[in-house]
Amino acid sequence: MHERIYAVEALILQRTALGEADRLLLLATPEGKQRVVAKGCRKTTSRLAGHLELFTQAHLLLARGRQLDIVTQSQVGQSFPTLRASLPRLSYAYYVAELYTRATSEADENLPLFALLLQTFAALDAYQNLDLVLHTYELQLLNAIGYRPQLHQCVVCQTPLTEAAKRFSPQLGGVLCPQDDLADPQALPLSLAAFKVLRLLQTQPLAQSLRYHLSTPTQKEVARLLQTTLSLILEHDFASSPFLTSLRQAPFSQE
Ligand SMILES: [Zn+2]
Repeated sequence: MHERIYAVEALILQRTALGEADRLLLLATPEGKQRVVAKGCRKTTSRLAGHLELFTQAHLLLARGRQLDIVTQSQVGQSFPTLRASLPRLSYAYYVAELYTRATSEADENLPLFALLLQTFAALDAYQNLDLVLHTYELQLLNAIGYRPQLHQCVVCQTPLTEAAKRFSPQLGGVLCPQDDLADPQALPLSLAAFKVLRLLQTQPLAQSLRYHLSTPTQKEVARLLQTTLSLILEHDFASSPFLTSLRQAPFSQE
């Protein structure tokens, strides 16, 4: 039986004004994404004001509504203050939130993906190397939604891959051995440096990956491989996302 009031842990991904004083919120939760209404929260006298900021983690009490559930109480958990005060960090956070939104449905329980999202926000708040945080997130998001790129065995013949591998197929979802080089005419060239970085980010804890230094060409190559793969799976052209356009105009990943 559904209780009328229930508690949920959430990360606030989007806020939209609704009517005079209300807000529509898009939440990430362990049970997938969810749209809810916060009534009166734009009035300064509201108990909710200040407890429902964009890109904060919150503990919410929700009441079941006819269409959307309604926020009745909110308590801020992690507020990620460094992230929210920095434009470069914020633009990474928007991209991370967009990928999450596209990769999940409503009422689609995925605790590992929610944990990954919170871990990524905490890392964008705490660390300098935002590109490494982002690429780790992209790889592990693919993992969490069932599209783990195959980086240890050839994606066609399953033989263990060596340093001789030179091509990555976003379409087939992994690296090709030299014998299967032509299995996908649209496969992208793969440098040894990018190959090694992808393997490390896929298998190591984030804290360990953050010790690496990515050269600019390798970072760009890894970004392109992952964005092409994500675009195919999520049917969205991330190459033209506002986030990437702003990155090209003003590289600020080192702040
Ligand atoms: Zn092969």
